[in-house]
Order: sequence, then C-alpha cells, then structure tokens
Amino acid sequence: MQDPRQNHPIVQLEGVAKSYGGAVALSRLDLTVHAGEFFTLLGPSGSGKTTSLRLIAGFERPDSGRILLDGQDVATLPPFARAVNTVFQDYALFPHLTLVENVAYGLRARKMPKAQAHAEAEKALDAVKLVDFAARKPAQLSGGQRQRVALARAMVNRPRVLLLDEPLGALDLKLRHQMQQELKRLQFETGITFIYVTHDQDEALSMSDRIAVFSHGRIEQIGTAFDLYERPASAFVADFVGSSNILGNTLLRPEKLHLLAPGNAVPAGYEARPGTVREAIYLGAVTRYSLALEDGAALQVMEANIVPVQGALRFAPGDAALAVWPRSACVEIGGSSQQGERK
Ligand code: ADP
Ligand code: MG
Repeated sequence: MQDPRQNHPIVQLEGVAKSYGGAVALSRLDLTVHAGEFFTLLGPSGSGKTTSLRLIAGFERPDSGRILLDGQDVATLPPFARAVNTVFQDYALFPHLTLVENVAYGLRARKMPKAQAHAEAEKALDAVKLVDFAARKPAQLSGGQRQRVALARAMVNRPRVLLLDEPLGALDLKLRHQMQQELKRLQFETGITFIYVTHDQDEALSMSDRIAVFSHGRIEQIGTAFDLYERPASAFVADFVGSSNILGNTLLRPEKLHLLAPGNAVPAGYEARPGTVREAIYLGAVTRYSLALEDGAALQVMEANIVPVQGALRFAPGDAALAVWPRSACVEIGGSSQQGERK
C-alpha cells in the first residue's frame, strides 16, 4: 500500500490566525494534510482544534492567512460549496425521519431522485453495518449506532475530506474502541481524507497516519505516533503524549526503566539511580512503580508483568530499589534526530 504521506496536499493552512474578541484561538497556523491521510488534531481542551476544523469547513473566516483545498484558495466559498463534510459529536440526526431518510436527506436536498438517493443511502448504511435498521428512527438506536448513522450521512456525499470533531466523545470506553476500528476501516476502504479531532492521546496514537499536537492555539509538533512518542519536539509533547520522566532536557519513558534489588550489578551500557519505592500499583498487564530518588526527584517505572506475579509484587512501598535503564533509552527533547515536520 502506498503511504498517503507521499500523496498530493489536499488541505493546506498557511499562516492562519483567528481571535475572538481579544482572545487568540489560533496564532499563525501552518498545516498540510495529504490526500488519503488519517490526520489527527490532538490537544487539550481550548487549544484550538475545533476552531481549526470550523475554518476548514468554512463555518468561520480566518483573520489572516490562507486555506487551500486541493490547491485552491477557498476564502470566498461557503461551507456547502467546499468538498468537505463534518461529523459532530452530537450527531444532529432528524428524530422524525428513518435512518435511510436521514442519510438520504442531503442528496434529496440536492434534488437527487428519491429512489436513487435511497439506494445511495442504503449503500452508506451498509458500509457502517446498519442497513438492516434502515427503516428505524434514531430513538430506536444505541449511542454507537447513532454515531454510525451520522458517519453514513456524511460519507454518502462522497466528500474529499471528512472532518470529525471528537465523534466518539459520548461513547463508553468499550464502544469507543470498537468504533475506532470501524472508523479506521471505513477510512481505509473509502480512501476519504479524515481530519480527526480528539483530546485522547491513545485514540490519536492508535488511529492516525500523522498527528498535529496543539497547545494554546499553536502546533507544537506534527508527526507520526512514533515521532511524537519517541522523539518529542518539546516537553509539552513529551508530557501530553504518553507518560514521561523528564530529567533536565532528557526524556525517559517509564517502560524503558527497570527496577533491581539494591546491590545488583548495573549491566554494561546502563545507567542506574538508587531510591525508595513510594508506590506500587498492579494494573494487570503492567505494574507501575514510583521511585523517590535521593535528591527528592521521582521516577516513574512501568514493568510488564511478563513473569506471572507470584502472590506479591517484586517491590512494595518502602523498599529500597535501583532503577536502571539503557543509555540508548535517553532522548534529548527537541533533539536533532527528529523525523518529519516540526513547528
Ligand atoms: P478545542 O476544540 O481545542 O477545545 P477551541 O478551538 O474550541 O478549542 O477553542 C480555542 C479557544 O478559542 C478557546 O480559548 C475558546 O474559548 C475560544 N473560542 C472558541 N470559539 C469561540 C467563540 N465562538 N467565541 C469566543 N471564544 C471562542
Ligand atoms: Mg473542541
């Protein structure tokens, strides 16, 4: 399969800025999304993700900068004239219409004959595995099913780009995971470019070809899940994506550390720091330890429970322990080995 990152740019933001009153929502954003990408905007609440989507969709106008779709400046195009569709978190289905009528609604509004519109709608419902429910009303569906109808309704228009703003936010964790896989499959099968907004780093890492990390209306870094996790461009990215130990300018991911009983030899190529275990939390697949170092700093250590836990964890709070890690696990934050685009 071809890597979508090699494809032509389909959405470009160039120096896009947006303020509300005196408050800056976005400051000079530069962003290029390639055709066929699953591209995610990740960041905490208020960091400018929704504003970015609304600008691309045409619901807002930038104060400055350019937005290009397929190389064309869309400044003067209203939302309906852009080859872009949006799926919102709250679904916004018509309660009095059946599913097939809901999905066909946009096609009918554009004067497609009813039989053809319904046939297209049924195909879209089939893609989200709801064609058997075509005659039901939204109230007869679960939250996850309603979200799939909203997706079918957006995809039936065959947009070049689909914008999704926290579409799984209202679902419980299990359903969320199922829908993540569904969305991935749909994106892959249709080849539609997805621009996906989430504040959930696990969701972003598991689904995206590339991710833009937002903070305070700026992009901190753009890269693959690997880039962000292994080579974060800033302390913010290191901390927001995964959990981290930050020693000065050095990042040490907790799973790269290991605890030894005091007095053990430190293996060649490893560094070691002695400390006292403060916390030992068994999480099934892993155990998470917090180690207080002699200088007062804390180190998080995540150990995979590869060997069956026999009655007790290897270390308990109060135990002395030696944290060890391979020198190669130390990553300089914002280091020059950074791959991919960086802002
Ligand atoms: P996110 O989607 O990442 O949570 P938003 O893009 O919604 O963030 O918001 C970015 C910033 O812009 C926030 O500080 C928010 O309060 C502000 N903002 C967004 N929309 C409006 C609006 N219509 N009026 C005033 N401020 C807004
Ligand atoms: Mg938002």
